Amino acid sequence: MFQNDQKNIPSAGKTDTIHLTCIRCPLGCAISVRLENLRAPENCGIPKERRLPGDCGILEVSGNGCPRGEEYARKEITDPVRTVTTTIPVTNGDVKRIPVKTREEIPKGRIFACVKALKGLTVEAPVQIGDVILPDVAGTGIPVVAAGNAAVKQLAGNAVREQHS
Ligand code: SF4
Repeated sequence: MFQNDQKNIPSAGKTDTIHLTCIRCPLGCAISVRLENLRAPENCGIPKERRLPGDCGILEVSGNGCPRGEEYARKEITDPVRTVTTTIPVTNGDVKRIPVKTREEIPKGRIFACVKALKGLTVEAPVQIGDVILPDVAGTGIPVVAAGNAAVKQLAGNAVREQHS
């Protein structure tokens, strides 16, 4: 299903080109994607042989320096996803905040709901990398996990005793 911005959808029976910057590596290749209107009828004039298998809305991907760029562009056009990262406060921890992230990429359209779900969330130390912070964020079925560690904060008295032992 086509989930990109409506402004990128060519009018019926027409083709259009959109431009993306690949984010799969620091080179940031400028990629062009030529699209057809997915809702165009079979007889719209776009030959069947130019419709790529399983991706009939994309006529051509160019400008990518490697196959990962084409994969990124196709995904970005048809089903854009992102990993959400942020930090949340820790109580009783040796650090005030820890980084957290979605364990997998989530649909771009769910990012706002994900950020909203994480707002106001705190976690109790100890926390280890990979610990599940939120099991199913924003109905995506994907958990938010810790991307850092937080040990329990040592009391000042213990710290002093440790130094003298
Ligand atoms: S297309 Fe390949 S080389 Fe270019 S930015 Fe993407 S991953 Fe890097």
